[in-house]
Amino acid sequence: MISASLFTVARCPECAVALTPQPAGAVCPRCQRTFTDASGYLDLRPLEAFQEQTKYLDEALHVDARHETVGPPLLGSKIRNDQLRAFLDLAPGDRVVDLGCGSGRAMIWNRDTGASFTGIDISAFFAKEALDECDLLLGDLRRLPLADEAFNKAWSLDVLEHLSPQALHDMLSEASRVLTDDGALFIYTHVRKNGPLALGVRLVNRLAHGLERLGLIDLRTERLRKSDHLNPIADHDDLIRVAFAAGFDVERITYYTPIIGAFAENILMRMAERLMARRGNDQGAAVREARAHAKARLRRRGPLYWATRAMTGLMYLDVLLWGRVRSGPFFARLRKRPRQER
Ligand SMILES: [Zn+2]
Repeated sequence: MISASLFTVARCPECAVALTPQPAGAVCPRCQRTFTDASGYLDLRPLEAFQEQTKYLDEALHVDARHETVGPPLLGSKIRNDQLRAFLDLAPGDRVVDLGCGSGRAMIWNRDTGASFTGIDISAFFAKEALDECDLLLGDLRRLPLADEAFNKAWSLDVLEHLSPQALHDMLSEASRVLTDDGALFIYTHVRKNGPLALGVRLVNRLAHGLERLGLIDLRTERLRKSDHLNPIADHDDLIRVAFAAGFDVERITYYTPIIGAFAENILMRMAERLMARRGNDQGAAVREARAHAKARLRRRGPLYWATRAMTGLMYLDVLLWGRVRSGPFFARLRKRPRQER
């Protein structure tokens, strides 16, 4: 949606001045560029096309996600969302920006906190609920079309690993600019250097690939999702440096080595959807159909939902058992250093 309050934070991507609302969008009072209401969101992408664009623009990844509705958080996404809530402590009155919001589902999952949300992404694959209930923008994370210090909290999930080192610095600097002093940015991403525990994940994934060769599971979507990872952060010392250079301190961190998670998501779930997929010539389409079907069943909160919830509970062991053991993937809260400390 495009609410009245969106116009208090939205800025022209070229001139950084506030926009003047118009019947079907907005206009920049300085450069006169008009921005049309593209059915529920404002397109504030800069005119100058950036060289580097993530393959997330690739429709292939989103072909079955278009106009999707938001299901309940489960498995890895429930763990991520619970960590987000624990790290950010969202409360009524919080002004939060979701940097790289995708479908906008994380905002929907947290609307019960009473915080207000603005989502921004480079491509418009917003879910119906997000279009109805959250302020949404199309824009470039390296040049946020948002006012200075407009938010006190932010998050960015599964985004940083898609950026180059330069884009990451630009993105974090922009995140810092739009946050108030002491504002918090929650991130979920990974560094290139893994700890010894990652061997467990590698063994599970090797097993998964073996099962794929036998035709028992299909990992194509997972591969596509990882195909454009640039992994700009070398290790956890590098994370501290990169964050500091953009005006942040790493305030709190929990490592996430999903050994049980990889087994649950890459093997058990993939086998289950194979069983549910009808036999056909186009296995890809059959699996997509099975996923959509499973999603509908999950929303009805029947036995499949509770079985998946139970598996999600088991996956928590990955956080409880080795959340303190330094490894590649992690959850962290970055705090914007107040002016007097900069
Ligand atoms: Zn302008």
